[in-house]
Amino acid sequence: MSNEVNPFESLQEQIEDAATHIDVGDGVLDRLKNPERILETNLSVELDDDSVGVFRAYRSQFNGDRGPYKGGIRYHPGVSRDEVKALSGWMVYKCAVVDIPYGGGKGGIVIDPQEYSTDELERITRAFATELRPIIGEDRDVPAPDVNTGQREMNWIKDTYETLEGTTAPGVITGKAIDSGGSAGRVEATGRSTMLTAREAFDYLGRSLSGASVAVQGYGNAGSIAAELLEDAHDVTVVAVSDSSGAIHNPEGLDAHDVKAFKNETGSVTGYEGATEELTNEELLTLDVDLLIPAALENAIDGELARDVQADVIAEAANGPLTPEADDVLTEKDVIVVPDILANAGGVTVSYFEWVQNRQRFYWTEERVNEELERHIVDAFDGLLECYEEYDLPNFRTAAYVVAIQRVLNASEEAGSWP
Ligand code: NAD
Repeated sequence: MSNEVNPFESLQEQIEDAATHIDVGDGVLDRLKNPERILETNLSVELDDDSVGVFRAYRSQFNGDRGPYKGGIRYHPGVSRDEVKALSGWMVYKCAVVDIPYGGGKGGIVIDPQEYSTDELERITRAFATELRPIIGEDRDVPAPDVNTGQREMNWIKDTYETLEGTTAPGVITGKAIDSGGSAGRVEATGRSTMLTAREAFDYLGRSLSGASVAVQGYGNAGSIAAELLEDAHDVTVVAVSDSSGAIHNPEGLDAHDVKAFKNETGSVTGYEGATEELTNEELLTLDVDLLIPAALENAIDGELARDVQADVIAEAANGPLTPEADDVLTEKDVIVVPDILANAGGVTVSYFEWVQNRQRFYWTEERVNEELERHIVDAFDGLLECYEEYDLPNFRTAAYVVAIQRVLNASEEAGSWP
């Protein structure tokens, strides 16, 4: 994994590339490339041994032209100001490409959550929620889960916000547990959009997914669910998966559900009995497979590694897994890359459904959620293809950005200037 590429610079490069295909003035381009505001703060929290821990935390609100800022909260030692800025920008264009009425935001705490007890994590999360309270809200900024956060943290943030505001406002955050106002289908939504976009990409190539070989880097929420859904719905052969402990391989196929059960039990995929060998993460990423799903963190594939990638299709479940140089190499090699802002947009799309349900106090069946999700993702894929062909664009990522930037620009222009 390349740590040298700054994800914020990658985002800015992606926007600049796409903007060359549409009429964007310099001042406007600057606005499209930079966040509106960033909260940067220290959380001082009492730890179990009575000492005080201090944790750096961020929330970036990138662009609100199309609606409330929207985006997850990450707990990871690698969180930085630039990473949060990049992730918040990707959210703007992700929401625009699937045409849901949100802007983009993202937050994070510099922390390795494995080193803290549940009580400590609750206090840290509530301290962050207290800092966030003045700038979030159902109509302002609606956070959600990201790496190392889930329903538990979302429930704590909702409770802190509602207690301090003296109200009920379940739509202040999404990704909650069902009994706290969550939506059916939310946990699976990101992996589901990865599965749907892979299906559409294979369809575009005139190929069947049935029997296709698949490798997944990062067997967490997004990656494992994409693998399970692809196996269940399309009978793919998942030949390799990895997590931060390493990668496992079986050319005859691993059982996606069984590997997940093993990881839930033991904490990692390595040591799974159904594997024939262990691989390095680099070996997994360069396997000769039909479909590769990077579902871990940014910069998983740099230009050098991209030269060795053998997959025909890449569906980016993770945010920013390819560096701009890797993108160029893969475009040159005619690899179809379904960009993150579409391939993993299921999470935010079902977050939007959750928010709609919270505000209406009327809850949908899982069947309805999945149908609406499929409609949004397939429509967005069709829109991307139309743009790709009409403008004769070099790759799907540029097409996704052209569609998304145009929508953000329209909203901004229609709003006019003030005063
Ligand atoms: P997660 O914490 O559930 O899973 C991440 C997985 O990646 C873990 O299994 C971890 O062990 C593994 N990993 C970390 N570093 C690795 C490495 N170097 N090599 C191989 N594996 C590694 O997180 P998640 O929610 O699945 O998020 C994964 C990616 O998907 C992130 O980029 C996130 O921003 C993106 N994403 C997630 C959602 C969502 O709803 N969960 C939505 C949109 C995008």
